[in-house]
Amino acid sequence: MSSKIINFSPGPSKLPEDVLLQVQRELLDYHGTGISVMEMSHRSPEFMKIVTDAQENIRQLLNIPSDYTILFMAGGGTGQFAAVPLNLLPSTGKAVYLNTGTWSAKAAKEASKYGCVIEIKPDFKSSSNEIQWDHDEDVSYFYYCSNETVHGIELNFIPDTHGIPLVADMSSNILTKDFDITKFALVFAGAQKNIGPAGVTLVIIRNDLLGKQSVHCPSVLNYSVMAKENSLHNTPPCFNLYVMALVFQWISEQGGVKVMEQRSNAKSQMVYEVIDHSSGFYSCPVPASVRSRVNIPFRIQNGNEDLEKQFVDEAKRRNMIQLKGHRSVGGIRASLYNAVTVDEVSLLTAFMKDFMKSKL
Ligand code: PMP
Repeated sequence: MSSKIINFSPGPSKLPEDVLLQVQRELLDYHGTGISVMEMSHRSPEFMKIVTDAQENIRQLLNIPSDYTILFMAGGGTGQFAAVPLNLLPSTGKAVYLNTGTWSAKAAKEASKYGCVIEIKPDFKSSSNEIQWDHDEDVSYFYYCSNETVHGIELNFIPDTHGIPLVADMSSNILTKDFDITKFALVFAGAQKNIGPAGVTLVIIRNDLLGKQSVHCPSVLNYSVMAKENSLHNTPPCFNLYVMALVFQWISEQGGVKVMEQRSNAKSQMVYEVIDHSSGFYSCPVPASVRSRVNIPFRIQNGNEDLEKQFVDEAKRRNMIQLKGHRSVGGIRASLYNAVTVDEVSLLTAFMKDFMKSKL
């Protein structure tokens, strides 16, 4: 049993211990200024350096070319559900939303306040990676969520939109996998899973999409305003942004996104292996082709709620916490973001095997 708490939270989630220790060391006196980052002007040279270093680091980590702008915004993923249509969807325009679960559905609902939303549902049981939809030249953008945090559905391919600008919510799997940013017009991600503390949101936008916002777009959600003012149009979530910068640095020091991806593959395979070799004691409701590497939902004896409660309680006694499934779907969910280590996942899989043995 681990003497330390192992946190499998879906978000806000575990941060790398090295990052938290650095925050602790710098808390009362940031780099000799005698004050903390929380108490510092966001226009000070020290804070401006945090912003530019974070931008440079994420540009390098994701190999982002110069025709893309990196923004740090407030408002979380939900803020972006409004920002995307307010910046990219003319009031007479249309956007296609791929509905894969809770978060893409919420995004579509929000966007429909601002323009015409065409919702499509994929068929993950078909063997093809193609998303079927009627291509329409008038569509302003095609939107999808690369990883549905609640349902544990992750697309392992980038949809082919036939030239229509592609927008992705990568809140729960960004930086866990290498991807080609040039296939996207815009990517956003709330921080609280793989990036840092909740409150800051990463937006990566191709420059030709700037300047198309609606006249009603609030300045704090306006990508052009934020781009012109280097994300400092108003006071940003300073402390969160600072911790995010440390997480970017930590990922670089670990070897970058490719190393995160290898670990992510290894960790998720360990859990799926136990599920798939449990003769149905554990089951994952997600079709194999779209199983998430970062959020693994599973049931015990096809939804025996009493056993599932026992599992969560017993895990907690063994210092493994936040394993309860989302309230809308029930069951168990293990979230294995970048800060969760392979050793921690080994302890989880050992517990899963022990628990199963004790109930057979
Ligand atoms: N998108 C995804 C994929 C999410 O998992 C979440 C939150 N868990 C959101 C959007 C919403 O983010 P926020 O709570 O920061 O608004």
